[in-house]
Amino acid sequence: MQSRIHYAKPSITEREVAYATDAARNGWAEHCYDYIYKFRDLLKDYLGAKHVIPTSSCTGALHLGLAALGIGPDDEVILPDITWIASAAPVTYLGAKPVFVDVLEDSWCIDPAKIEAAITGKTKAIIVVHLYGNLCDMDAIMEIGKKYGLPVIEDAAEALGSVYKGKNAGAIGDMATFSFHGTKTVTTGEGGALIVQSDALYDKISILESHGRDPKVPKQFWCEQVGFKYKMSNIEAAIGAAQMERIDELVQRKREIFESYVAQLGNINGLHFNPEPEGTYNSYWMSTIVFDKRIPFVREDLLEDFKKNNIDARVFFYPVSMMPPFEDCPQNKVSYGLYNRGINLPSYHDLTQDDITRVCGVIKNYLGRIGVLK
Ligand SMILES: *Cc1c(COP(=O)(O)O)cnc(C)c1O
Repeated sequence: MQSRIHYAKPSITEREVAYATDAARNGWAEHCYDYIYKFRDLLKDYLGAKHVIPTSSCTGALHLGLAALGIGPDDEVILPDITWIASAAPVTYLGAKPVFVDVLEDSWCIDPAKIEAAITGKTKAIIVVHLYGNLCDMDAIMEIGKKYGLPVIEDAAEALGSVYKGKNAGAIGDMATFSFHGTKTVTTGEGGALIVQSDALYDKISILESHGRDPKVPKQFWCEQVGFKYKMSNIEAAIGAAQMERIDELVQRKREIFESYVAQLGNINGLHFNPEPEGTYNSYWMSTIVFDKRIPFVREDLLEDFKKNNIDARVFFYPVSMMPPFEDCPQNKVSYGLYNRGINLPSYHDLTQDDITRVCGVIKNYLGRIGVLK
């Protein structure tokens, strides 16, 4: 049996091991925040963001951010139908309603025109998701946010390192969230961050994220309100700090992997890869192929071929509205027509050129079998 090719795995070097070891050995008492602050500042400088709050997950960061915006029962939050459920779940935690809108056929990201059409008197925020590293049309989205006085939150979990017209993904919207789960471009094992541009909102979050303790009220263990506990640990942050010191290398490798896939498969008609429109830089968290409607593609058959070859591939996200907790939105025609034509290819940093050739071989074989390739 050939060696297993995973779809995602972090890039861990001696630096991450050394920092984590140091945090475990020395990162206590007066040093218990050292790596958290280091990680926070590295991320802040990299993004060019005003405020960064490290959290235990992206899900927690979104919950915290939406709570700080005052979102509650009866409110509506607009978001794309194609994303991971973690973009939507925090909306429901607050009793608000996620309103799923369609995505664009080329970027697989939220369609700005559909955002505008979905705005009602109850809409309180817009969450946009930079899918697989691809960037949303942020100019149009920020314009809509401004026009209707709605905050725009970037779920940038999959787009650390992507750049839109000179601005980093996560530093464009009023708020943004990141994930540092073990599958993401930068990892802390589990972890996330909330990015905030406004000082007033940051002050509010500083209280909320600390069980309602106000840094300006000196009484110990005194809570002004019921808050949240979504903090990142110093040990996780130590791994994150090492990763952020390697961020350029980590993003560069993602781009090389994408380019290798395109070099081997790019000349086949009817295969659509992650786009990189003029003025943007894609960090290609997941190299992804969407098979054209004209190709008689059956996702499960290709996944079966991968499995036989000891390769893990991932299905493209289902429309979130298709899952049991939510109401179906078949009017989101692009989303409902897209998901079963897409797959994520193995994209982890340590993938070798031979691994990539093996993956491409399975795809070419499959396309030969269905008559697309001779
Ligand atoms: C990974 C991911 C999340 C969730 O991140 P966690 O850190 O696991 O909470 C949220 N949104 C998107 C788009 C993701 O890919």
